[in-house]
Amino acid sequence: MRISFHGADRGVTGSCHLVECAGKRILIDCGLYQGGRELDEENGEPFGFEPRSIDHVLLTHAHLDHCGRLPLLVQRGFRGEIITTAATRELARVVMLDSAHLQEEEARRHARYQTRRGKGSAPGPLYAVLDALNTLDHYGRTAAYGRRLEVAPGIDATFLDAGHILGSASIRLDLEEHGRRYSLALSGDLGNSGRPILRDPVVPVGVDAVVMEATYGDRLHKPLEPSVEELYQVIEDAFRRGGNVIIPTFALERAQELLYFLREGVEKGRLPRNTPVFLDSPMAISATVIFQHHPECYDEETAALFRKGKDPFELPGLRFTRETADSMALNRVASGAVILAGSGMCTGGRVRHHLKHHLWREDSSVVFVGFAARGTLARRIIDGARTVRLFGEDIRVRAHIHTVNGFSAHADRDELLAWHHRIDPKRTFLVHGEEQAMRSFAERLDHTQVEMPTLGQIFDL
Ligand SMILES: [Zn+2]
Repeated sequence: MRISFHGADRGVTGSCHLVECAGKRILIDCGLYQGGRELDEENGEPFGFEPRSIDHVLLTHAHLDHCGRLPLLVQRGFRGEIITTAATRELARVVMLDSAHLQEEEARRHARYQTRRGKGSAPGPLYAVLDALNTLDHYGRTAAYGRRLEVAPGIDATFLDAGHILGSASIRLDLEEHGRRYSLALSGDLGNSGRPILRDPVVPVGVDAVVMEATYGDRLHKPLEPSVEELYQVIEDAFRRGGNVIIPTFALERAQELLYFLREGVEKGRLPRNTPVFLDSPMAISATVIFQHHPECYDEETAALFRKGKDPFELPGLRFTRETADSMALNRVASGAVILAGSGMCTGGRVRHHLKHHLWREDSSVVFVGFAARGTLARRIIDGARTVRLFGEDIRVRAHIHTVNGFSAHADRDELLAWHHRIDPKRTFLVHGEEQAMRSFAERLDHTQVEMPTLGQIFDL
């Protein structure tokens, strides 16, 4: 029995962990590295194991940094089974297809650039839409929350609510090899407790070891309510100045969570009833539809809204802009609108166009509501860059920049500690965190052997 680490080692992206037991090889997540050119190149590197040799992939959730290298795994020979919850299955389909489409576009752009410079051929995309489609053929059994599933003889998996995004799970593995039993829980990404929409994380108590995320291992979040109030205030102020509000949004969960609170703001009379809100992200639009299909994932309060026939993500002024032309038409909306657009870290997507049109405007506001990894455009703006380069132009940053961090889909330090404390494992592997956050978190853990794996490192269990 052993585990090895092939991503999210002292970084927050590229999650990919390999468990070997009873002659089988199980991969937990196969995510993309995100946030800068070096990491882009890292995505194309060999996995550190033979894709053909993997029997099953268990997917914790549909974020790109957890499922984004699956099409590459398939392209390189994986022929096994992908097991995940019903909602993750649908969301991951959208996420992988979108990623493939972006990879193809990027490769075409790069090729044109090379041609114009009289240079030879450019490398192709990391993977293509066809690879993503082929990946869907490997979807096998669906995991129900809380129900033990025999992945293979000697390997049982139980998917538990992680409270992070729709369909997200922590995975408990009960392993048996040569008569020896061992249990291991992989946190996946953990959400906050007591938040609307999703159920709270379920703690996999009684396991021997955990592999846990430490994204916010050194930080506490502001409470949610003041953050929601701050958002309303930012919107009100920007409208009064005659500007728009741009919110770079992660398509999954954050976009829907924002719609949820904007709806509440309208219902409570905190925002004008017909506030125009544009969800300008084809993926977020698809995800919102998938959200409406999975009432089994919601907490009591949100489930009750659905039962009453009310859509928690609908508000009077909401417009979906799926087509590029509609998105471009938003450039003519001079004031009084809230625009939600991806990507959350501004590394790609339509938000870059909106930033180009708004960053230089003193009357507008840009609100960051999610994690911004080092090296990303979002992080540079948050850190106070005076100018940023977008589409070959230097853009002055004069808009009001806000970070409202109470919306995080990730547990903060104290919640991570509470999760760990309830399990009290003998061994702890920290992943999915920047090194400083991990070290600071590790110092607070008692009675456990802490490991901070490096890329490719193997541990016997
Ligand atoms: Zn995530």
